[in-house]
Amino acid sequence: MRPDNSDKKNKGGLTPIATTKEWKLLYFQHGRPGLEEDSEFKGLCRYCEVRDICVLPKPETGVWRCQYYRALVRRKSNLYENALKQLENAEGVINCDRDICKILAETMNELVVHFPVKMDDGGIKMLTGYRVQHNNALGPFKGGLRFHPLVDIDEVRGLATLMTWKTAITNIPFGGAKGGIQLDPADYSVHELEKITRRFTFALGNNIGPEYDILAPDVNTNPQIMAWILDTYMSTVAPTERNRCSHVVTGKPIESGGSQGRNKATGQGVVFLIEEWAKDHGFNLKGSTYMVQGFGNVGSWAARLMKRNDAKLVAVEDVTGAIMNENGIDPDDLAIYVQKHGGVLGYPKAKPINHEAFFSIKADIFIPAALENQITAETAKLLKVKLVAEGANGPTEPEGDKALQLKKIDVIPDILCNSGGVIVSYFEWLQNKRSEFWDIEEVDHRLHKMIIDAYERVRGTAERYKVNWRTAAQIVAISRLEMVYRERGIFP
Ligand code: NAD
Repeated sequence: MRPDNSDKKNKGGLTPIATTKEWKLLYFQHGRPGLEEDSEFKGLCRYCEVRDICVLPKPETGVWRCQYYRALVRRKSNLYENALKQLENAEGVINCDRDICKILAETMNELVVHFPVKMDDGGIKMLTGYRVQHNNALGPFKGGLRFHPLVDIDEVRGLATLMTWKTAITNIPFGGAKGGIQLDPADYSVHELEKITRRFTFALGNNIGPEYDILAPDVNTNPQIMAWILDTYMSTVAPTERNRCSHVVTGKPIESGGSQGRNKATGQGVVFLIEEWAKDHGFNLKGSTYMVQGFGNVGSWAARLMKRNDAKLVAVEDVTGAIMNENGIDPDDLAIYVQKHGGVLGYPKAKPINHEAFFSIKADIFIPAALENQITAETAKLLKVKLVAEGANGPTEPEGDKALQLKKIDVIPDILCNSGGVIVSYFEWLQNKRSEFWDIEEVDHRLHKMIIDAYERVRGTAERYKVNWRTAAQIVAISRLEMVYRERGIFP
């Protein structure tokens, strides 16, 4: 979640300057270090190419761009289509039961809610939220909640489907779901965000629950938002149930029943898997180089935890821009800067670069940890890395994937690579149910075991069927689901 900008709105802070049907949000960004109030520049943004309405920050960095340049040009989400393509690929290899694949190719329930919220200025704003429950054959629906202006039903369908594969691959007793509210948190005060979160939770009603559908943080949501969801849910059940439902959300603050290690879990899982890959390939991580896209929860933790391997972070890109320093960027120091300034742009100990230059950096490992569809046919061609460890969900388009294969770049696919988050969410859920509190050593130890077991299942499957890791991961997931459907049959 970005800092509260409510006090700056329309006062030289993040001020909306144009809204059209196609391009929902364009901002001129005042308030960055070195930017003057009069530093508007009207012209062609090389990224979004919306000539007439694009207003760019002064090129303190030498890079002209509008703040939301790539979020805006991101092609309409085809995540769901891609998730189904992965299913088809795996189905072709293992001859999966066609009827069972028919079930897995559909989402089970889809909820779209339009709800009103009273803003700080007294006006009413209508918002749209989604919860898609893809499958619960293995256990309760489970998946994050995202706040983003480009959230739509297709994106949420795709993310929910990926969650089903992810929980299946890691052998945890959950199904797959995902939710989202179409908004940009920078447009709202903290108070407004709390009201939006609570009202959405209320609108979901009995469609979520600790034994039915469990939420967690995702892009632009965090432990505080989970605490508001929990409090709202607790306040709407019978008083006798109130203290039995803390596991309706995971990723809560520790004091409200959260687990040690959940905050860093996804990044920690990414790093455990990179270490395993390095062991497998006789690759020495000491002195190796890595680059990270996205410096939020997943990206910043992965970057910081890589430090213990004496690896060097050479480039970072987030929504504000990209930076590089071939002598290394200290991820802990950068995290402090980002906390203060809201993004990596302007970090004084690295130089700004553009998007193409970021993808062209020579490094050993690339950790995409931002949004989907970032590794395209074009950007994959630029990459000069040995390994892509997918911290984000769906960061690689199918065409990008083909290009990575042609270049013989190894990939630890998203449904395996970022599963550390849902694994520790499962631990949190278990601790809540049993009224237990595990220390960080226990959480890390169990996470390591579960994620490396999943890695080995995927590696074994890739070897057995002579397929790439993405298809192998998919095969592991659908084989487990297929077995469960075969055992139980279809009701009635
Ligand atoms: P976050 O909101 O904490 O961070 C997102 C980061 O991406 C920010 O640094 C933001 O600046 C950057 N970003 C956004 N748009 C960008 C763009 N167009 N170009 C470059 N950078 C951009 O979110 P997060 O929780 O770290 O999630 C990141 C990814 O990891 C998402 O795909 C999410 O679904 C996935 N994921 C998250 C978790 C989790 O536990 N949080 C678990 C599994 C997977």
